[in-house]
Amino acid sequence: MITGIHFLLTYSCNLTCDHCFLFCSPTSKGTMTMKQIRTVLEESKRLGTVRETYFEGGESFLFYPVLVEGIRFAREMGFEAGIVTNGYWATSVEDAMLWLTPLFQLGISDLSVSDDELHYGDRPDSPARCALEAAKTLGIPARSLCKAKPEARQSPMSTDDKGTPEISGGIKLRGRAVEKFAGGLPARKREELRDCPYEDLRDPKRVHIDVYGTVQICQGISMGNCWKTPLSKLVSEYDAEKHPICGPLVRGGPIGLIEEHSLDLKGEYVDACHLCYAARLDLLGKFPEHLGPRQVYGLE
Ligand code: SF4
Ligand code: SF4
Repeated sequence: MITGIHFLLTYSCNLTCDHCFLFCSPTSKGTMTMKQIRTVLEESKRLGTVRETYFEGGESFLFYPVLVEGIRFAREMGFEAGIVTNGYWATSVEDAMLWLTPLFQLGISDLSVSDDELHYGDRPDSPARCALEAAKTLGIPARSLCKAKPEARQSPMSTDDKGTPEISGGIKLRGRAVEKFAGGLPARKREELRDCPYEDLRDPKRVHIDVYGTVQICQGISMGNCWKTPLSKLVSEYDAEKHPICGPLVRGGPIGLIEEHSLDLKGEYVDACHLCYAARLDLLGKFPEHLGPRQVYGLE
């Protein structure tokens, strides 16, 4: 049952983080219009199960007027609205309050601010901290999102139940994170990768929707295109078993995806998402309706 709609308001971002699984950068294209946001919200209402919306990217504050207006519309329709940002706009606490006051007045339910070494290195004056301080002063519910460069943990306490070193840092090995980090990490045995560890593909609780109409169940896996088929119809007709990517994944994880599509993937893989992403790259041309957009695969 879908309870959350996440707008990928833009793929554009002022940063180009190594761990970005959407391949966002200052040159990325693709920003939603107000008309598209309204269409998705109206369809979300039709679903009858959606409670929460999130506005994220890319960097959602790069298109501030659209962000504010989108949230206004979401709130008027009775949805909760949260935001994910890297906080680049918070040049001081005082100035950050200018950006946040209109959002506070709209009653946003969450401001999640990326505040870690991957975004800001060891800068003691990261703008994320100003953003969080301003949110606290105004009384906006806010939290900091912290991730770290992935590393294999060496301690026996941090191995999984098969004795395989766990990867620390909270980074999922998809998108640019694969290019930047996978090389230095220990490989898992492929036969262990028979589950999708993070997404409930049979019964997704939230989807991410972008400017192209891609309704993403996991980044780069699409339920369909909501500019061609209304979102409410896509969601009500979604059946993971019949989906050419989710079906194999729910039956056998990334290994199931490889086996059912008879892929001949060489190489070593660090975890399930790494193998899943590699398999999907191989299938991109065959299933353009179910895998995309190309931006998320680093191809735009
Ligand atoms: S991880 Fe966030 S801040 Fe970094 S490039 Fe991607 S969208 Fe931008
Ligand atoms: S295994 Fe695939 S579908 Fe599951 S969370 Fe990882 S990338 Fe997403």
